[in-house]
Amino acid sequence: MSPAFSIDGPFDCRSCGACCIAAGPVAVSPSDVQVPRHRTRSVRRMVGFASFEADDGVRCMKSDDGRCAALKGQPGVDVACAIYDRRPTVCADFQPGSQYCREARGKARSLFARIASVPSTTVRPPLFAEAVR
Ligand code: SF4
Ligand code: SF4
Repeated sequence: MSPAFSIDGPFDCRSCGACCIAAGPVAVSPSDVQVPRHRTRSVRRMVGFASFEADDGVRCMKSDDGRCAALKGQPGVDVACAIYDRRPTVCADFQPGSQYCREARGKARSLFARIASVPSTTVRPPLFAEAVR
C-alpha cells in the first residue's frame, strides 16, 4: 500500500483497486456482452471472466476469492483492469470519490497493508476473501 493511501483520497484508481475487491459482486448486464463485430475478441475475454451466474440469473464477474478475476497487479500499489475497454457498465459508472468508493477503500485499507507486508508471490486468494466477509 502506498504510504500516502487514505480513504479520503487522492482517488487514483491505478494505485487502488479497492472497488474491484471489496465492493461486492460485479454484475454484467446483457448489454455489456452485446458484441460489436470488431470487438469480438475482447468481449470474448470478458465473457470468459464473467462465467459466474447467480441463482437469480444475474451474471457476475468471477470473484470466488473476493477479487475480480480481471484485476491485475498489486491492490493498493499498482493495478489495472485487464478488460478495461470492455469492463461492465457498473464499473465504468463507478465514481472515484463517491460514497461507495470511500466505503470500498475503507474495507480494503487493512487488506492493502497486509498485502504490502508480504512478497507479492505469496499473496493467496484467502486474503481477499477475508476482506469482503
Ligand atoms: S473508484 Fe475508488 S475504490 Fe475504485 S479503484 Fe478508483 S479510487 Fe479505488
Ligand atoms: S471488471 Fe475491471 S473495473 Fe470491473 S471490478 Fe473487475 S477489475 Fe475492476
